[in-house]
Amino acid sequence: MIIVLRPHATKAHADELLDKIASLGLKPLYMPGTERVVLGALGDERELDSLHLENHPMVESIQRVLAPYKLVSRELHPHDTIVSLGTNGGAVGGGRFTVIAGPCAVESLEQLMGTAEAIKAAGAHALRGGAYKPRTSPYAFQGLGEAGLKILQQVSKATGLPVVTEVIEVADVEIVDRYADAFQVGARNMQNFRLLQAVGQSRKPVILKRGMAAKVDDLLMAAEYVLAEGNPNVILCERGIKTFETATRNTLDLNAIPVIKLRSHLPVIVDPSHGTGVRELVAPMARAGAACGADGIIVEVHPHPEAALSDGKQSLYPAQFDAMMRELASLVPVLGKTLA
Ligand code: PEP
Ligand code: MN
Repeated sequence: MIIVLRPHATKAHADELLDKIASLGLKPLYMPGTERVVLGALGDERELDSLHLENHPMVESIQRVLAPYKLVSRELHPHDTIVSLGTNGGAVGGGRFTVIAGPCAVESLEQLMGTAEAIKAAGAHALRGGAYKPRTSPYAFQGLGEAGLKILQQVSKATGLPVVTEVIEVADVEIVDRYADAFQVGARNMQNFRLLQAVGQSRKPVILKRGMAAKVDDLLMAAEYVLAEGNPNVILCERGIKTFETATRNTLDLNAIPVIKLRSHLPVIVDPSHGTGVRELVAPMARAGAACGADGIIVEVHPHPEAALSDGKQSLYPAQFDAMMRELASLVPVLGKTLA
């Protein structure tokens, strides 16, 4: 339920109403805007009928939130959310086009430092790299674990780039929180609800990737789990879905971008690396992502993709990344955004 207060309502009026909402066992929300204060009440809305808020002198209007994902929905929060990526100033949303780049997996200090220096010189805003890798095969490289997190932190300090890394289980949330600026919850864990709740208890940003067989509404419901725990800093990510098509690793569903923009206030980025699986297709689909309204991209870059321990085929050479950034530098302003 959304409760819009009259322009002259004071903080004391808002507090009185919030207390009444809380006394019914509903979750009260306080959302001050530039012209009006909006209150929210989450939970069983029928409970609110007993309050007859429509008769309150400071209440201008009451609306029900129809979407099942209340906090994620644009109905509750009409303006775009901007998510800050750590203390170094990187942010996603609100007219920026943010570029997050780095290897699929952290392999060594030398590999990550080399990648970070190259992407920074080309204009990237944040560094990615997995220390815990969810691999299809149990025999494939599983990541360096805490040693990888330490490398991420060291490289972040040296370059000033905020770092994003994947967390694959609840038990690792605390340690990842200690080293990284943002969590990534991967496609395979999009509906790991306990993991979503655990990252929801942090205040660090969460890049939530769409499951490969998940509908847009499933992604939005998954994001609701994080927001419901009190963490509003969610960045959604379209990374391709499974279809009958085999020419590419996945089918990058760019329809999802404007659909999400209509339904949610959360920023949304595109992953053309996993979305295509082919390095030659990454730059064109990054440009397509920008054109359809994405707030940024996350792409894989490796100094020697042919020797990468994971996802080498879709990893860009640093020179390709640099060329892509130059193309984006001319495209993004035409789209009314800034290259963050
Ligand atoms: C990754 O970013 O390397 C990754 C494993 O992504 P996804 O969860 O989208 O497959
Ligand atoms: Mn990968």
